[in-house]
Amino acid sequence: MTRFIDLPQLSALVRAMGAGRFMAELAAAIEADYLRWNDFDKTPRVATHSARGVIELMPVSDRTRYAFKYVNGHPYNPAAGLPTVMAFGALADVDTGYPRLLSELTLMTALRTAATSAMAARVLARPRPARMALIGNGAQSEFQAIAFHTLLGIEEVRLYDVDPAATARLRRNLARAAPALAVSCAASTAQAVRGADIVTTLTADKTRATILTPEMIEPGMHVNAVGGDCPGKTELHADILRAARVVVEYEPQSRIEGEIQQMPADFPVVELWRVLDGSAAGRESDRQVTVFDSVGFALEDYSALCYLDRLARARGIGTLVQLVPPPGDPKDLFGATLADPADPAAHPGEAPRITADA
Ligand code: NAD
Repeated sequence: MTRFIDLPQLSALVRAMGAGRFMAELAAAIEADYLRWNDFDKTPRVATHSARGVIELMPVSDRTRYAFKYVNGHPYNPAAGLPTVMAFGALADVDTGYPRLLSELTLMTALRTAATSAMAARVLARPRPARMALIGNGAQSEFQAIAFHTLLGIEEVRLYDVDPAATARLRRNLARAAPALAVSCAASTAQAVRGADIVTTLTADKTRATILTPEMIEPGMHVNAVGGDCPGKTELHADILRAARVVVEYEPQSRIEGEIQQMPADFPVVELWRVLDGSAAGRESDRQVTVFDSVGFALEDYSALCYLDRLARARGIGTLVQLVPPPGDPKDLFGATLADPADPAAHPGEAPRITADA
């Protein structure tokens, strides 16, 4: 049987554990998988673009498990009452192809993206960062604030969004979810960013935006650039990249989708796994500006699905569903699925489940 986890089941699990603890454990799982980078069979995600958005498939596997995520990105969806990002995915056993887990991944994407951002900032930002600016206060933003508060000890966040209602919602939610975090609202991106140790950009627009311009950037800042994740969809002025040390998840995918799509093909970048395993430097000086050019890589969803699979089995969470044929005669797909259940000839050697007279 395949374990199926829907959104209410995952929400209940995360509420019971606490989002901060969940993301801390998830960040450790993601880091452990990044540290065995060469075990994975990797590919840039497969994107299908349309006028209003993109739908993507994200596969990855090691020798044991295969994972994929279906995810969309439709920046105009909120006006129609739908989220910008929605996702689901599966985890299968490589030896047999048997699907062991099928799960909601919309909430999980927000959790794994924030966990990855905080995990990257731990090796890229200056030690003991205290202040973060959060530009773009939509669906992902609570998760980023909570992850940076819990994992990095961020004490203060300054918020800005072109939609004041989004900022007000984020502020309300954080007051309940992270009462020790000081939250203030800014009148502009420039005001929010001033004096920040970390700047997180989380905006959604189907355009080459310049949310951050070079004059906003101060020496030593770490920029966690999350919203630019598709061809033609960026958030940073190219001069910020030119002057920074830029770290990416998986270079072949980031060259297509990341902030660095604006740069020449030989623009120098460092892959995150190298910084994590110490084979490349992260930040090289206190005054250096670092950029995590995040687009979201399949490995993070693999880690999230494996982590969820372990938790769900240990806690008996989820619903077991007959997604693929049950054990029996594996060659008799017809008999197992379409034969008349009352016909004993269709099930030789098996007592009929329903008799003619029953
Ligand atoms: P959302 O639509 O819920 O929120 C986006 C917010 O950005 C909105 O509140 C909007 O008003 C605001 N915004 C748009 N333009 C702005 C501007 N110029 N200045 C300030 N605010 C602006 O989207 P979301 O689910 O929070 O996702 C945010 C972005 O992150 C999307 O672009 C999404 O594709 C991307 N994303 C990336 C990853 C990753 O792994 N890197 C994962 C998930 C989502």
